[in-house]
Amino acid sequence: MSLIEINQLSKLYGFGDAATIALDEVDFVVEKNDFIAIMGPSGSGKTTLMNIIGLLDTPSHGDYKLGAKVTPKLSSRQRAKIRRDTVGFVFQSFNLLPSLTVLENVALPLAYKGLTPVRRLKRASEMLERVGLADREYFYPTQLSGGQLQRAAIARALINNPNLIIADEPTGNLDSESSRLVMELLSEIHKAGNTVLMVTHNPALTRYASRVVYMHDGAIIHDEQSKIGDIPNILQRSMYFVSKKTVEDDAAGVSALMKTIPGDLDDRKLAKKKRQTKRKPAKSKKVKKS
Ligand code: ADP
Repeated sequence: MSLIEINQLSKLYGFGDAATIALDEVDFVVEKNDFIAIMGPSGSGKTTLMNIIGLLDTPSHGDYKLGAKVTPKLSSRQRAKIRRDTVGFVFQSFNLLPSLTVLENVALPLAYKGLTPVRRLKRASEMLERVGLADREYFYPTQLSGGQLQRAAIARALINNPNLIIADEPTGNLDSESSRLVMELLSEIHKAGNTVLMVTHNPALTRYASRVVYMHDGAIIHDEQSKIGDIPNILQRSMYFVSKKTVEDDAAGVSALMKTIPGDLDDRKLAKKKRQTKRKPAKSKKVKKS
């Protein structure tokens, strides 16, 4: 049985003429132990899809099965329980509570499990050791670097032994060395048997994924299995290179990608850009005259 089965799933925000179609009849199946990199321009529906998969939001139409559960039929209380036991979230902005120590932050999701405080802290401590932060247990989030904060957030996401990790741009706020450490940690978690869904703008990170999905305008426009360590075919076709070393390389890779995917829609955008560029000199003349 697949871990996730999504059929003809749509999400609309607003009503009537003001409605935005964030997801447009999406079909999506995730197998256990997939590591999927989800890419696509801003506004393409990636976060909306992750929020629905993670039971933080509900679809407007369509079916969604997580394991054996048909989620639209569940009450919000049942959804909260499944979310707690099944899904671990990692966000770009870490979302640790500043008034708690790192250890307390990691132990927090266990508060609903009926464990004694001592057992909670012991489990959190073991998890922090697993992510390489044993010596930071009693620090507060403000005393940690971005990479350390994200590793703590991953420890918190793992504390309930979820079978699905949803990471929304987990390296978006990190320098390249911290990004590498965080990606290696996610990769280890994947190798240990977990399923990982990761939204990213960075094509270089698709190397860690076993499958790459591209979204555009609320739809999945490309879905490709990829060998871990390899660059997916679509990136090889559409990019001049993928970063090996620097943030600048990454940026160049991203812009190369955004120029080429998806073909005809972006051709229209490029044509629009050209029209705007042509208009610019006329504007600057006007300024000079006045
Ligand atoms: P992405 O994560 O790819 O940037 P999102 O899923 O955030 O895309 O957004 C998809 C579309 O849905 C966008 O047009 C966005 O403006 C719209 N959208 C997302 N959340 C809301 C909301 N709460 N209210 C209204 N529109 C929203």
